[in-house]
Amino acid sequence: MKCSLCGGEATIKLVYANLKLCEDCFCTYIENRIKKKMRKFIHGRKYAVAVSGGKDSMTVLYLMKKLFPESLSFAFFIDLGLPGFSQEARKKVSQLASSLEVPLKILSLKEEYGFDLADIAEGRVRKARKKKVCRACAVVKRYLMNKVAWESGVHGVITGHNADDAAVTTVMNLFNIEFERLLHLAPYNPPIPDLHLSAKLKLLYHVREEEVRLYAGIRKIPYLDAKCPYVQGREPTQHLYKRMLDTLEERMPEIKLRILAMLKELKKRMEPEEFPQYLCERCGFPTVNPKKICNFCRIVEEVKG
Ligand SMILES: [Zn+2]
Ligand SMILES: [Zn+2]
Repeated sequence: MKCSLCGGEATIKLVYANLKLCEDCFCTYIENRIKKKMRKFIHGRKYAVAVSGGKDSMTVLYLMKKLFPESLSFAFFIDLGLPGFSQEARKKVSQLASSLEVPLKILSLKEEYGFDLADIAEGRVRKARKKKVCRACAVVKRYLMNKVAWESGVHGVITGHNADDAAVTTVMNLFNIEFERLLHLAPYNPPIPDLHLSAKLKLLYHVREEEVRLYAGIRKIPYLDAKCPYVQGREPTQHLYKRMLDTLEERMPEIKLRILAMLKELKKRMEPEEFPQYLCERCGFPTVNPKKICNFCRIVEEVKG
């Protein structure tokens, strides 16, 4: 098999793009796609990268350093206190940040707020119930990412969401008839200063998960390949949708990117909806709750009893 670009020995087939590529040309192809799609959101601005230790966010950190070093302000890791996970992740993140010479901030939920996700999962804190851990995790991550970026004065935060994540979320929201959520699903969400909301950028929005995995492998990017210890028992709905799209992809190689193209067209035809947003009376960050207490402050209140 010959590389479509350099004529060398190809090992990677990108069926949706009708390309056969060698490892070098594959990496260049991915890097060029990201540069082309993302430059307009990044150029002249400073960003923080949220790293979890998983392959997507670690690849984002690597790519930012390689493609847009002048816009990379720092990386940060939130230690959520997940048993057998957070410590390992922290090690990998420190290893990558120091090898790339990127400043790293580590924020420990336990040290800052006196509780962590293990306390919630195992019912050690008053009132907090076991089943709430996944929801609490999502709230805590979203809140702290924004807070860290906002308080450090960067333009926004970059996360590791890839094309598969975006396609799965699109299909889920369609099936759940939650169309208004689709309006916010984008590679870039601008900041809203009045609401103390930083910009959010998904650097890998146009890159399929399989491509991220290949890229990370070829570039030897260290990452933690482990599942969250609290994903057990019933398979999360998201994973079911993911498997459905993976199955479709076998016959329709472009399906995930096509879903994202569909989303783009769909949004053009939708009326933008104005959400009433308030500032939380406790912490000053945004909330849609008319009682003006955000979800994060509610969790803090709940665990402290
Ligand atoms: Zn090549
Ligand atoms: Zn709050």
